[in-house]
Amino acid sequence: MTVHQNFIAGRRVDGGEAADNVNPSDTNDVIGAYARASREDAQQAIAAARAAFPAWSRSGIQQRHDILLKVSAEILARRDELGRLLAREEGKTLPEAVGEVVRAGQIFDFFAGETLRLAGEKLASTRPGIEVDVTREPVGIVGIITPWNFPIAIPAWKIAPALAYGNCVVFKPADLVPGSAWALSDIIVRAGAPAGVFNLVMGRGSVVGDAILTSRDIDAVTFTGSVATGRKVAAACVEHMRKFQLEMGGKNPLVVLDDADLATAVECAANGAFFSTGQRCTASSRIVVTEGIHDRFVAALTERLKGLVVDDALKDGTHIGPVVDQSQLDQDISYIDIGKAEGARLAWGGERLNRAAPGYYLQPALFTETTADMRINREEIFGPVAGVIRVRDYDEALSVANDTAFGLSSGICTTSLRHAAHFRRNAEAGMVMVNLPTAGVDYHVPFGGRKGSSYGPREQGRYAAEFYTTVKTAYTLP
Ligand code: NAD
Repeated sequence: MTVHQNFIAGRRVDGGEAADNVNPSDTNDVIGAYARASREDAQQAIAAARAAFPAWSRSGIQQRHDILLKVSAEILARRDELGRLLAREEGKTLPEAVGEVVRAGQIFDFFAGETLRLAGEKLASTRPGIEVDVTREPVGIVGIITPWNFPIAIPAWKIAPALAYGNCVVFKPADLVPGSAWALSDIIVRAGAPAGVFNLVMGRGSVVGDAILTSRDIDAVTFTGSVATGRKVAAACVEHMRKFQLEMGGKNPLVVLDDADLATAVECAANGAFFSTGQRCTASSRIVVTEGIHDRFVAALTERLKGLVVDDALKDGTHIGPVVDQSQLDQDISYIDIGKAEGARLAWGGERLNRAAPGYYLQPALFTETTADMRINREEIFGPVAGVIRVRDYDEALSVANDTAFGLSSGICTTSLRHAAHFRRNAEAGMVMVNLPTAGVDYHVPFGGRKGSSYGPREQGRYAAEFYTTVKTAYTLP
């Protein structure tokens, strides 16, 4: 089997080792072999980025715009093929995967435009005769470290702004899903990114990720992944006094009030908690329901879950694909056991499922009669497992919703304008959803959270410039 190589300094490089990329819907299906870079490979990629930076950071905006637009066009033209690859390696359903690929294309298109729109400011000086200019310059060499659950969209929303604003990139995708990252990198290189401007180094976090974190030549690190790894990234970046941005876990609440439209609330809960196998940082894993609607809501949601088909991600009619791998499956099952031991009632699901091919299939699990202090309601499970918490009224719902170490996305289902407006103002989260699932966002507006979910400037939309540029204030006496 040919090994998909890394892209370093404009060359394709083997790396010392290679690893198989295995389909979680059918573990007999090997998608391909992908190089695993060594620490030295990563260091070469960083050196190449450093060497390319002076020219690229001064390159014309038309050149950068054209490259990004070309990347977007190819991604969109190959949406079905790339979507298939993504569904095959990550396990989300084919429609979800194609949707994610389209999103990546849209992001490159958006940042192609942003290349042309980056603005500065001209101000009067407090001192007569002097002019003040505030401009944005690229931050430098950006290390990009991404998780497995959005194999193309998250890389896209970090790589596109990095290149748009004139930075050089060293990109380390998650070990588990190198296929989409490789395909995206191949497109970027063929679209004309000059040698060294964009480098792909696939491999282990402890090797490649660590080489990025410990290098003196990296100017900024953008990371999405778990809280535990995020802490390591933060510590290493503080040590080197470099800019960093972290997007981490979530324990997102969906509040359902007595006056909610039942069908809307059930759809928001089913989608937000269980679609994409619950493997979304914005998944609604805590469903906070007021007592007047509680029993009707639980009955309707359970009926909805009974109708969801868990099967091969590529199969027509599948609603929920497999869990991504054995270790995530073990974690999900261990939390289901923890929930039972804590006294929660398993209202539906939680069974390991067998399908035609060997895969990591798990029935969505809905717990009821849970309390806010149970571990299943406090720790991120990152699987198709959610807990319903019964509350008296809106005030208690808001207080339970905010009672978490995380703060990424917070949702409410209600027909009351007063409660919706109050919740929008008082939910302690970076994103608030009213009558919508907690997961599912636009690409032209900021994405990110508060508290333990995020650190540093927001991602996406024009707010991305906060991270990928650095401000210069110039005073001139003409
Ligand atoms: P992870 O932290 O295990 O890995 C993330 C990345 O960090 C991977 O590329 C990994 O190889 C790398 N890494 C691991 N150890 C490292 C080290 N010592 N040094 C440098 N890099 C290292 O996370 P994961 O399991 O891939 O992803 C799941 C997590 O991501 C969940 O917690 C989820 O909530 C979070 N996530 C957050 C967002 C968000 O925007 N807030 C989006 C998606 C996923």
